[in-house]
Amino acid sequence: NRPPRLHRDFMMTRACSLQNAPIRVMQWNILAQALGEGKDGFVRCPMEALKWSERKYLILEEILTYRPDVLCLQEVDHYFDTFQPVLASLGYQSSFCPKPCSPCLDVHNNNGPDGCALFFNRRRFQLLHTAHLRLSAMLLKTNQVAIVATLRCRFTGRVFCVAVTHLKARSGWEAFRSAQGAHLLQQLCELTTQSHPEMDDENLTRVGETEDGIPLVVCGDFNAEPSEEVYRRFMTSPLGLDSAYKCLSEDGNTEPPYTSWKIRPSGESRSTLDYIWYSERAFQVDTVLKIPSEEQIGPDRLPSYHYPSDHLSLHQVRFVPTASQHRW
Ligand code: NDP
Ligand code: CA
Repeated sequence: NRPPRLHRDFMMTRACSLQNAPIRVMQWNILAQALGEGKDGFVRCPMEALKWSERKYLILEEILTYRPDVLCLQEVDHYFDTFQPVLASLGYQSSFCPKPCSPCLDVHNNNGPDGCALFFNRRRFQLLHTAHLRLSAMLLKTNQVAIVATLRCRFTGRVFCVAVTHLKARSGWEAFRSAQGAHLLQQLCELTTQSHPEMDDENLTRVGETEDGIPLVVCGDFNAEPSEEVYRRFMTSPLGLDSAYKCLSEDGNTEPPYTSWKIRPSGESRSTLDYIWYSERAFQVDTVLKIPSEEQIGPDRLPSYHYPSDHLSLHQVRFVPTASQHRW
């Protein structure tokens, strides 16, 4: 029997080193294990590369390479046995919201429903409130969900909300996605303006959020190209949101050419579906992770032996405060 491995912590030599650090946010649809093996039909990806024993280390490696402060995942069907325990041991607190009727449950030997999961660095942020939402479309309940967490920075006292969602997939459902987006925006409006019992008046005044509501970051697989109505809704909502990845383009106004690229029996599909929205008045995008080139992705597209999902984890972003705020 070997003795346990040495556990060593860093000591911070400057008390405020976390105060000025940008908030790193990562958005990723990691591809549900049951869907990848049992439903998606990724005809150019070897079955061997789709095995959980192969994929789980690649997913964890991708997360730990960038070490986000806030991690938003979709299609998580290994929360309780993998992501929650592994990431908890690395300092993340988290929340999981399964889809009410996950398509994973139709797959033989599934590992439970897939859903959205939200993780944050608990040394940096304190959780004030969590809401699990079941999205509606035209007042009817749907199979899509969102998590909205209100976090307070332990060093600056500043408060912000972060949301993760995964809207209805497939073409023909554009109006449905738009309605889901409208419902989510309305819920976000309420959650960012209502005061939580955990936030006393003194605290709210201190963070200066009483007039405009709490600043917001929304990460999601919207399953919608920028030409869709749901994108327009988010772009023009009263919440004052902008999309982080536009800053990668030359004109600063165009989304990347793709965030997902796969080959199914029906053919090749290359699309921009994933976004990180943020309150323009509260955050500036400091850094975004570049999109891999077509050559890097390779002729068989995604997923593959070297990349575990059909969606890119492109959205690893750093935010810095706007001029009106000294720091996050
Ligand atoms: P969605 O249409 O939102 O798709 C579910 C998943 O399938 C997504 O994760 C999506 O991935 C993936 N997907 C998208 N396109 C394809 C494709 N061409 N081939 C394979 N997979 C694809 O599904 P819902 O959540 O609305 O659930 C529908 C399914 O759930 C049904 O097929 C049924 O199995 C089950 N179900 C649902 C009920 C309900 O109440 N809605 C009731 C009974 C059963 P991505 O986002 O990456 O594109
Ligand atoms: Ca998928």
